[in-house]
Amino acid sequence: MDYLPIFIQLHSKPAVVVGGGRIATRKVDLLRKAGACIQVIAPELSEELRDLTASGEIEHIKAPFVPSHLDGAALVIAATQLKEVNSAVSQAARRRHVPVNVVDDPQLSTFIFPAIIDRSPVIVAVGSSGQSPVLARRVREQLEALLPARLGALARFVGDRRKEVQQALPPRQRRPFWERIIGGIVGSRVLAGQEAGAEETFQKELKGATPAGEVYLIGAGPGDPDLLTLRALQLLQQADVVLYDRLVSDAVLERARRDAERVYVGKEAGDHHLTQERIHELLVHYAGKGLRVARLKGGDPFIFGRGGEEIEVLKAHGIPFVVVPGVTAALGAAAAANIPLTHRSLAQSVTFTAGHALDDATLDWRSLAQPHHTVVFYMGVAQLPRIVERLLQSGASPDHPVAIVERATLAEQRIVRGTLQTILESARKVELSPPALLIVGEVAALARTDLDARVKKVDERVPV
Ligand code: SAH
Repeated sequence: MDYLPIFIQLHSKPAVVVGGGRIATRKVDLLRKAGACIQVIAPELSEELRDLTASGEIEHIKAPFVPSHLDGAALVIAATQLKEVNSAVSQAARRRHVPVNVVDDPQLSTFIFPAIIDRSPVIVAVGSSGQSPVLARRVREQLEALLPARLGALARFVGDRRKEVQQALPPRQRRPFWERIIGGIVGSRVLAGQEAGAEETFQKELKGATPAGEVYLIGAGPGDPDLLTLRALQLLQQADVVLYDRLVSDAVLERARRDAERVYVGKEAGDHHLTQERIHELLVHYAGKGLRVARLKGGDPFIFGRGGEEIEVLKAHGIPFVVVPGVTAALGAAAAANIPLTHRSLAQSVTFTAGHALDDATLDWRSLAQPHHTVVFYMGVAQLPRIVERLLQSGASPDHPVAIVERATLAEQRIVRGTLQTILESARKVELSPPALLIVGEVAALARTDLDARVKKVDERVPV
């Protein structure tokens, strides 16, 4: 190790920044977060530093740097463009044994700044010993995505209860208890922003209750694993059991914890009702055993996903749950096909509906057939002829644009574009199969098509 990573307490301690430009301003911001008492030595200040001086939050010494400025300082940062000044600061600091950082100059520095992830009170610092700050920042970005936004809240939750646990449990039991709390339901509830529920479970577990299970109802998105939300990923890595649907791609499933039990609960056509009941039973069964259950659904759990029914069952059994939204297929398909679902001049509203609910009396077909309106039909492939017929009967023009996106966001994705008049023939030609979505409305004319190129990747750049 070339450097020892440590965290320094700077509350109300004198810190000196030499320089008043953009970089000095950033360093001042950082020192302010740490509560330091800041003196800035510079002939000129940035606007932000001038404001801070005016409000008394920092002190400005409008003079050229002299070594005595460092008398009594706890720490100094040199952020000037002038090599001689930076060297003079470094030398004066070393002579006084004051830790010094000269921006972008490890040679003149006795300490360097890491890249920081701030989830106070949890702080993660990443350094490359000055070899490559860019690399350190990249590592930081990768960690950033893994660490829940409310990590700090969890640290505070634990901190606030340490005394209570110390009084309630003998030393040997404390660590395993905290492991259970942080890695279990209490932890995931705090991270989901449900502190009241977390407190209730915490108290029960402190009194010796066996930890209860819980369910994460997670939207897996349309297929591309990179479209999972960060929270979906975090919870997938925690879950002991994963119950997944037919529409959940293998690539998404790969992101679950290695040793998690994976249970396929896809519904076979014709067996709908029975299987949904069975899923309910399985959810209750696994959660009842104290396990963390990820219920992974294609797209979003609350868009044609029967998520509503599942949470009713969980509520009835008093099983705690968290719902994590996902990118619904309509949004995945629209993005993949470059179709803006609303558009300033082409569509002012959008409807998501299900093709298999064709005869539902509550569907207002006249409004679905309106020119300035976009309609996305889920589960519509088999019903395509009937959908086209009903739209035409309800006043849509035969030239009304239509696009079909099959297996959106997956490697085998295909896009077919046409009009109400031509789409049946085109769909027949390419032998469309589920899952696919039908997008109807003027915006569909903007779809990029790839009839000739059978395979298109969603992240492929489209030439402008
Ligand atoms: N909850 C899901 C929808 C489930 S209904 C969501 O929010 O996306 C199943 C229907 O969704 C399929 O019949 C199909 O119409 C659509 N669908 C799901 N994944 C899709 C994909 N990758 N490409 C195109 N359509 C998809």
